[in-house]
Amino acid sequence: GKLGIALVGLGGYSTHQLAPALEETEHCYLAGIVTGTPEKERIWASRYNIPAENIYNYQNFDTIAENPSIDVVYVVLPNSMHADFSIRAAKAGKHVICEKPMAISVEECDAIIKACKDAGVKLGMGYRLHSEPYTKEVKKYAKEKTFGHIRYIAADAGYHSGSYPNQWRLNKALSGGGALMNMGVYAIQSIIYGTGENPISVAAQEYSTRPTYFKQTDETITAQFEFESGTVGNIMTSHNIRANRLFASCENGWFELDPASTYIPLAGRTSRGTLNFPQESQQKLQMDDFAKHVLFDAPNIAPGEMGRRDMVIVEAIYESIALGGQKIPLKFPNGYGL
Ligand code: NAD
Repeated sequence: GKLGIALVGLGGYSTHQLAPALEETEHCYLAGIVTGTPEKERIWASRYNIPAENIYNYQNFDTIAENPSIDVVYVVLPNSMHADFSIRAAKAGKHVICEKPMAISVEECDAIIKACKDAGVKLGMGYRLHSEPYTKEVKKYAKEKTFGHIRYIAADAGYHSGSYPNQWRLNKALSGGGALMNMGVYAIQSIIYGTGENPISVAAQEYSTRPTYFKQTDETITAQFEFESGTVGNIMTSHNIRANRLFASCENGWFELDPASTYIPLAGRTSRGTLNFPQESQQKLQMDDFAKHVLFDAPNIAPGEMGRRDMVIVEAIYESIALGGQKIPLKFPNGYGL
């Protein structure tokens, strides 16, 4: 049968992407909800046919342990709440999908990984792009060196935030950081799956043009990376600049995705021509991939270690900025998080 998924946090992403995708998934379905907003209980129950016994709030959430119709808990809350709810889900014996960024510190990522290991449950990241065909093609170029050695890899991921000063993403206690914690994670992901390598150093810079709006969180960050094979990397992430691109210059050509991390449709070109893949809900593909991991022991294509690896890099970028742009060495065990 299909795995029952409970969504925790019924904000924009759950409402507009995950819940609709769970109507198309083949190996899992929307079985339950966890919400702090009582009005949403009735609306979601009737929209998605959710029985009363599968509806929880943040206080009674832990009793989900006694509910056999929930197999997977998917944490879709503000970043600072990911660790708490992922750990509570693991302790309740449920498999966990955690949204990006995994948490707001490496220490929290370690605690999530340990809780899942101790409970014997599976842990996956909400990194939908690993299930998406354009991204899979780029991962193949990296692995097979289709265009020869990748000499330069660049990724930009940003949007222009208008004027919503009260959103949690601008509140450091809830977000853990600004553009880097939000869109920056996509840029970091891009340069790693675009090369198939973890970086060995990073140096970073921060820019501020709207300090009265971005009071607590970073507005724009650039960072440069070195890789063992000699590849040079560069990222830009912003809450003030629109950009969404992955570009690689290689020994025998180039490849590019633009946009590289929006929902649908992605688009891409290489020095050999235009890419053209069928467009499907990325969230549908992602949740089915995780369900196949749980049900049939298929590979976990976005494991907790990958989310933790990205948080190590986020922390190194903030450290470099605090040290005036100093180069910070990065050390990952062979293949870690890839
Ligand atoms: P959102 O603001 O639309 O929703 C957040 C939800 O959390 C709301 O339902 C809100 O009621 C609830 N919440 C509980 N406690 C809260 C508090 N103290 N302050 C504010 N809200 C609180 O956010 P979203 O866009 O749905 O993002 C949720 C998570 O999903 C984030 O971690 C984000 O990074 C991630 N996300 C991932 C993707 C992706 O493509 N993988 C896309 C969007 C969001």
